Amino acid sequence: MLRILAERPDGPGVYGVAATLALKVPAVRLSFCIRAPADQGELRMSNPPLPEEMNVYQNAEARFEVAAQKIGLEQGLYRYLKYPSKEITLYIPVGMDNGQLEVFTGYRVLHSTVRGPGKGGIRYAPDVSLDEVRALATWMTWKCAVVNIPFGGAKGGIICNPQKMSKGELERMTRRYTAELANWLGPEKDVPAPDVGTNEQTMAWVMDTYSMHTGQATTAVVTGKPIELGGSRGRKEATGRGIMMCCDKALAKLGMKRDGCRVVVQGFGNVGSMAAMLMHEAGYKIVGLSDIAGGLYNEKGFDVPKVIDWVYTQKKSLQDFPPGGTKLSSRDVLFQPCEIVIPAAIENQITEKNASQVQAKILCEGANGPTTWQADAIIDKKGIFTVPDILGNAGGVTVSYFEWVQDRQGFFWRESEVNERLHDFMDHAFDEVVRYAELHNVNNRIAAYMLAIDRVASALRLRGIYA
Ligand code: NAD
Repeated sequence: MLRILAERPDGPGVYGVAATLALKVPAVRLSFCIRAPADQGELRMSNPPLPEEMNVYQNAEARFEVAAQKIGLEQGLYRYLKYPSKEITLYIPVGMDNGQLEVFTGYRVLHSTVRGPGKGGIRYAPDVSLDEVRALATWMTWKCAVVNIPFGGAKGGIICNPQKMSKGELERMTRRYTAELANWLGPEKDVPAPDVGTNEQTMAWVMDTYSMHTGQATTAVVTGKPIELGGSRGRKEATGRGIMMCCDKALAKLGMKRDGCRVVVQGFGNVGSMAAMLMHEAGYKIVGLSDIAGGLYNEKGFDVPKVIDWVYTQKKSLQDFPPGGTKLSSRDVLFQPCEIVIPAAIENQITEKNASQVQAKILCEGANGPTTWQADAIIDKKGIFTVPDILGNAGGVTVSYFEWVQDRQGFFWRESEVNERLHDFMDHAFDEVVRYAELHNVNNRIAAYMLAIDRVASALRLRGIYA
């Protein structure tokens, strides 16, 4: 197992935010060092330590520990699956519009390629960290295994504030990041997609840069692309649609009805706005919405297409949407009266401090890692039915898989075909997770991890270890 860490020529320091390149900072270049995990030889823990609540990687590890124990995973496979297979740190020089040269820190972590090429988004945000990217890469391995698609797990990110950068700056940063990673990416190696702060345009730049390096148009190197460049119909809505499918299944499981069922959604980006829109169209009542600037709650329900127009076409603040409602913080929307709560923004939103305030009967996670390990126990105790992130938001990667298949076969499907196939994958995954939960008497989150680890471990046993 390799870990590839880039070092600046002047040492391994990570510059938390983009540093202005001055003469005293040496020229930026990549060098790689290879080392084994520091804790090589570690045994599976019988009493894993409590994770630091806000450390997403430790939260992911804690769930992995419990699930690995429950399925009786062998020590060797435990060691193998616990660590990412590669971690790459990049220092990305970008000429800014003001004439200055900035250097941004970026990462790409490949957790596993046991079941297929790495798959996972690229995130642009000021608080990206290696631990966060590691956690997200690990979750991708488990997520792809839960929905049983032939991918491993990967994730990338750059520490930057995309809201404060021009389109030209974003394009130059994306192209340089892709160029530095060109040898590691590829349809059979590692296939990125959008995540927080990136979109279809970002993927188009990645595809073009990679294609220029390989000398051939390679659409299957990324998913979440514009339709004109080999994107899939239904990809934009896919994560939200998958969330709705899980909510439909959860309602059926609990003997509840969809009509009039109150839903609150935190996050009004790709995932949150699409989930809210599709669920509104399907008869759910969306009573709470929020984005980074704040939230709104209204028992009468929101006309979601109008909110989308207000926010995205008219570029107005979500909280000012008429006829309005009770103004809340973006997090407090999660604790309002409703049947279904959908965190679809960022990590660590439902914590030990606030989990007792969740009033919903169903928690369906759209974001990755919105609920901490400590909060899980409180949510369980309240009897809330949880659809964990690695199932709830897996609709996105499932349609990314369809996009990759379509690009490789050069034949594109109707939207109804995409949605129908998505339905099959999501329904099957949901049923499998619930079956594991009931069979092993664990909650849905641990069940999803058990199912995923089981599948990855089986593939690993068949492949064996290349020496
Ligand atoms: P996005 O950038 O399109 O939207 C993020 C939304 O969250 C925005 O409305 C933003 O205002 C809000 N937000 C950001 N920071 C916040 C904060 N501190 N508090 C409250 N709200 C905040 O991102 P997205 O693609 O919708 O992704 C949202 C989540 O879903 C992430 O956790 C992502 O990893 C996960 N996810 C996304 C996809 C996908 O297909 N895009 C697939 C699976 C999982």
